[in-house]
Amino acid sequence: MKSSANIALLACGGTIDKDYNVLNGELEFTQTYLTELLKQARHQLDLRFETLMLKDSLDMTQNDRQQVLEACLNAPEQQIVITHGTDTLTQTAEFLADQIGAQKTIVLTGAMRPFRLAESDASFNLGAALMAVQTTRPGVYIVMNGRLFEAHQVQKNRQLGVFEAR
Ligand code: ASP
Repeated sequence: MKSSANIALLACGGTIDKDYNVLNGELEFTQTYLTELLKQARHQLDLRFETLMLKDSLDMTQNDRQQVLEACLNAPEQQIVITHGTDTLTQTAEFLADQIGAQKTIVLTGAMRPFRLAESDASFNLGAALMAVQTTRPGVYIVMNGRLFEAHQVQKNRQLGVFEAR
């Protein structure tokens, strides 16, 4: 009997999905690397993966956030993990929390260093988010640095490069 969860993983971009371009020295998007990350993790989840956009979250507009909201509302899954840039992670989490409340369990996460680069926090954060979405009561959350925060109760500490309660 299949005992795994039924989870949607929605990619929005952010540093987690960027790669280093050796030709111009920039971090940029070429494709999503989350499928590679998941394969490496040897996960056994019943997961549907969808790329909504590959954007630096500083470039995300209200239309983009609306698109994320609609993807969450239209998803057949009750459990949703969203990968997203860390700079406006709290903004999107708050928007989703205000619109969706506790209709679903939604966990947003990202990474401070790309999955493609050494010493990345991508796998740690996505693994924690996937576990949290299966075990937390409905609501909107951020998982970063091994911690689970409710939307509206978290901020990015830009001096330390970590997420903390506010
Ligand atoms: N500027 C990036 C973003 O918010 C930073 C990050 O993801 O850590 O998309």
